[in-house]
Amino acid sequence: MKRREIFAGNWKMYKDYNGAVALVNGLKGGLGDIGAREVAIFPPALYVREMVSLCTGTRIDVGVQNMYFEKEGAFTGELAPAMVKDCGARYILIGHSERRHVFRETDVEVNKKVAAALAVGLDPMVCVGELLAEREAGTSEAVVKTQLVEALKGVTKERMAKVVVAYEPVWAIGTGKVATPEIAETMHRFIRETLGALYDGATAAMVPVLYGGSVKPDNIAGLYAMENIDGCLVGGASLASDSFLDIIKVK
Ligand code: 13P
Repeated sequence: MKRREIFAGNWKMYKDYNGAVALVNGLKGGLGDIGAREVAIFPPALYVREMVSLCTGTRIDVGVQNMYFEKEGAFTGELAPAMVKDCGARYILIGHSERRHVFRETDVEVNKKVAAALAVGLDPMVCVGELLAEREAGTSEAVVKTQLVEALKGVTKERMAKVVVAYEPVWAIGTGKVATPEIAETMHRFIRETLGALYDGATAAMVPVLYGGSVKPDNIAGLYAMENIDGCLVGGASLASDSFLDIIKVK
């Protein structure tokens, strides 16, 4: 079975309203025929509803970058899972490295968010990835395995049809230091083996695993050529429609 291929752009805390509209219109205008490839954008939450209406009827799905796991309540500043769903978002990014390392989000919180997302029918895009010190200490696989196992606790095999995994080594995010296709492929294969041990081979073979970390038009081809890399999660290079379109249309 051919796995889904997803090209996702995480806008992080960039763009004003006019910039967001211009970017999405640029994407829509340039997409053309992308075959079975899927595109997702993660704009700042305040613009999501507008982006959803601009993307209706196109190949572009919209996601939110973060949410809280409680249903509702006195949680000033947070977004509830049902609100994210209600906005028309398909995806929710969970456990991005900036959430884990800047905002100290834990594996337990990541797991609660995954469960909350699935409960309201959102597709969780779960991010995992090791720090530079962890790579240098030779613990990358152990770190990523723990993140994955903890994130997916309680998630049934059936529900895995809605889950996407993004491997984003922290040392490659925003640094211009992209992982080599070989390093990334080794980790993607490891992630798939871990999913196989948690579930079964068929489930592991079906889950899209995206690479993220300094993906640019000039390095995507080598990554995309790898068997276990099913697309990418792009930060900086997704902020301009030309460069994101070049990535989406990689040969
Ligand atoms: P960059 O592509 O800017 O390195 O960001 C990657 C990322 O964090 C996407 O979520």
